[in-house]
Amino acid sequence: MGLLHPIWNYFEKLGHVTGFQQPRAKCFECNYEFNEATKPAKKHFKICQLVSNNKYKEYAELEKVYKTTNKKSDSNVEPILSTASSQPSRQSVINFAMVDRITSQEQKALELKFASSIYLFCY
Ligand SMILES: [Zn+2]
Repeated sequence: MGLLHPIWNYFEKLGHVTGFQQPRAKCFECNYEFNEATKPAKKHFKICQLVSNNKYKEYAELEKVYKTTNKKSDSNVEPILSTASSQPSRQSVINFAMVDRITSQEQKALELKFASSIYLFCY
């Protein structure tokens, strides 16, 4: 599932340990062991007495980056693009409507001119 969660900078993956069915992981700071999964790792990181404030801050930054990187492929990008492109297209619709209104008054005359020029050109 994409990137490895940044919580694993603070835990060691032990893999399979005898006596346990699931792979195990260990806290680098206090050697606390648990079944290898992101949820219990995050939970322990919060309550671990040996994790310093600097590490909490570092992890918070890493988690932010992790979350934004994971979001990039989501729908988050699309609304920004559609609002940016909607303004010029709305403007061009107005311009087109104005042009259309002006030319429609003279359209018949222009059509006649155009038709006769083709007629003259062909014969
Ligand atoms: Zn710990």
